[in-house]
Amino acid sequence: MNIILLGAPGAGKGTQASKISDAYNLPHISTGDIFRENIKNQTPIGLLAKSYTDKGQLVPDEVTCKIVEERLSREDCKNGYMLDGFPRTIAQAEALDKIANIDLVINIDVDFSLLLDRLCGRRVCKDCGESYHVSRLNGETKCARCGGELYQRKDDNPETVQSRLDVYKAQTAPLIDYYTKKGIIFNVVGNTTPEDVFQKVAEKLDAMK
Ligand code: ADP
Ligand code: ZN
Repeated sequence: MNIILLGAPGAGKGTQASKISDAYNLPHISTGDIFRENIKNQTPIGLLAKSYTDKGQLVPDEVTCKIVEERLSREDCKNGYMLDGFPRTIAQAEALDKIANIDLVINIDVDFSLLLDRLCGRRVCKDCGESYHVSRLNGETKCARCGGELYQRKDDNPETVQSRLDVYKAQTAPLIDYYTKKGIIFNVVGNTTPEDVFQKVAEKLDAMK
């Protein structure tokens, strides 16, 4: 099954992606993770991406689409995959249509008022990418999943978060309509707990098998 996870920054895409990836054995392809890895390793793509991610802007479509196309052509994607953070623009969705058959788009819908706090309080595992919120950590500094160290992403500060939310509204939200028209969208309310959201997603995925 080829799945897209759609939702605003902070909607819980990454959290659900890691649960779905574990439960359904699908490779988790996060363009944000790919860019962060490249930035850490100071590759040419990383140097370019950094100038955009630091400001909460999108990396140009051409670069992003090329990376995804290469990633989807690898062996581990033969039996399905889960895209997290791609597509993020109509142009990216159209490029994806040319190279992939998407079975389901899971749209995680969260009240905008919750997102700023979620993102600014987010801590991420440097090894496996799992996300946590400071309010649920009770001072814990290690990942419950793999023991890795937790850190705060550089773009999880109030100014950058605001521009990411603006970019989402202007460029990514139109994708909800795009995929609704194709009849492949599944909307799930993401205001509750990660476990609750996953249960609803799992019911849908099990029904599709
Ligand atoms: P978020 O929590 O905002 O969903 P991600 O980890 O998915 O964060 O992405 C972090 C940053 O990487 C984005 O703000 C953007 O600069 C860049 N990025 C990720 N995916 C894309 C994409 N599909 N197109 C363009 N830029 C992207
Ligand atoms: Zn971890």
